[in-house]
Amino acid sequence: MPPSKRVVRHATVTATRTISPSLIRVSLDSPDLVGLDLPFTDHYVKLLFPPAGSDYALPFDPDEHPDERPTTRTYSLRRRDTVNGTMDIDFVTHGDTGVAGPWAEQAKPGDRINYFGPGGAWTPTGDYDYFVLAGDEAAAPAICAALEEFPAGKAGVAFLEVADEQSVFELPAVAGVEIVWVYRDGAPYGQKLAEEVRTVATPTNGKTSWFVHGVAEMVKDLRRYLFVERGFDKADVSISGYWRAGMNEDGWQSSKHEFVAGMEAEETAAMSRS
Ligand SMILES: Cc1cc2nc3c(=O)[nH]c(=O)nc-3n(C[C@H](O)[C@H](O)[C@H](O)COP(=O)(O)OP(=O)(O)OC[C@H]3O[C@@H](n4cnc5c(N)ncnc54)[C@H](O)[C@@H]3O)c2cc1C
Repeated sequence: MPPSKRVVRHATVTATRTISPSLIRVSLDSPDLVGLDLPFTDHYVKLLFPPAGSDYALPFDPDEHPDERPTTRTYSLRRRDTVNGTMDIDFVTHGDTGVAGPWAEQAKPGDRINYFGPGGAWTPTGDYDYFVLAGDEAAAPAICAALEEFPAGKAGVAFLEVADEQSVFELPAVAGVEIVWVYRDGAPYGQKLAEEVRTVATPTNGKTSWFVHGVAEMVKDLRRYLFVERGFDKADVSISGYWRAGMNEDGWQSSKHEFVAGMEAEETAAMSRS
C-alpha cells in the first residue's frame, strides 16, 4: 500500500552536517517510516511548522488546530531507510528569510518535527537507455538519490547548478554518468543550467528519460525546449518547479496551477505555429 499523504508522521533530529556552503543535511529518526513502501528516488515530505507564537506542543495533529494551521514546506528524502525508520533531508540555506531553511540551520539533536507524506513518483528505471538529470541545489537531493539507485549498465548525464566553484559537494559516483557542474557566478537562478541542458546530445538509438527540477523560471525555459523545440514525449519527462525566486512556498504553491496553465497554453500556441 502506498503511504497516505494526509497521515501526520513524526521525526526527531539525530544529527546535522554541512554538505556545502549552501546545503545542510539533517538526519532524523522517524519510526513512522518503518515498513512503508517507498520505491521512488524523488520521495518528498511536507514538513509542518507550527505558526510562530503557537503554544501547542509537538507532536501535534494539524486537524486538531484548525485556527493555527501549520506552515508546510516540501523536502525530498535524500536518504530513506524503512527498516530502521530513519531519513536524511538536505536543506538549501538561503539566508534569514523563510521557515525551513533557517530551521535547518539551527536544528540540533532532539528537535522534533511533524510531516505529511512521503509522496513521490519517479525513479530511474531500466526501461530507458539514457538519463538526463538536471537541477539546482533544491533538486540535488533527489538527483543524488537517483544516482544512488541508477540502473546498472545504463548511461546518462547529471547537470547540477550551484552558486560557484566553491559550492560543489560530494556526489555518488556512477559508472557511465557524466557530472556537469554549472556555476551561477551571479547569474539568475537556473539561467545557466537551462543553457547547459540545451547543449546535451542524447543518443539517437535508445530511449531517454529526463528528470528536471528546481527554480520555476528554469523549468519554464526547459519545458519549452523539451516539448516545443525537441518534441519529447511528456511520458519520458519528469519536470516541475520546486520553488520560485522571490516567492515563499505558500505563494508559489498557490500560484503554481496558474503558472503551469500559462506555460502549457504558450507551449500549445508555439506548437500550433510550428
Ligand atoms: C517536491 C519538492 C521537493 C523539494 N526538495 C527540496 C530539498 O530536498 N531541499 C531543498 O532545499 N528544497 C527542496 N524543495 C524546495 C523547497 O520546498 C523550497 O525552496 C521552499 O520554498 C523552502 O522553504 P523556506 O521556508 O526555506 O523558504 P520560503 O519561506 O518558502 O521562501 C523564503 C524566500 O527564500 C527564497 N527561496 C526559497 N527556496 C530557495 C532556494 N532553494 N534558493 C534560494 N532562495 C530560495 C524564496 O524565493 C523566498 O524569497 C523542494 C520542493 C518540492 C516541491
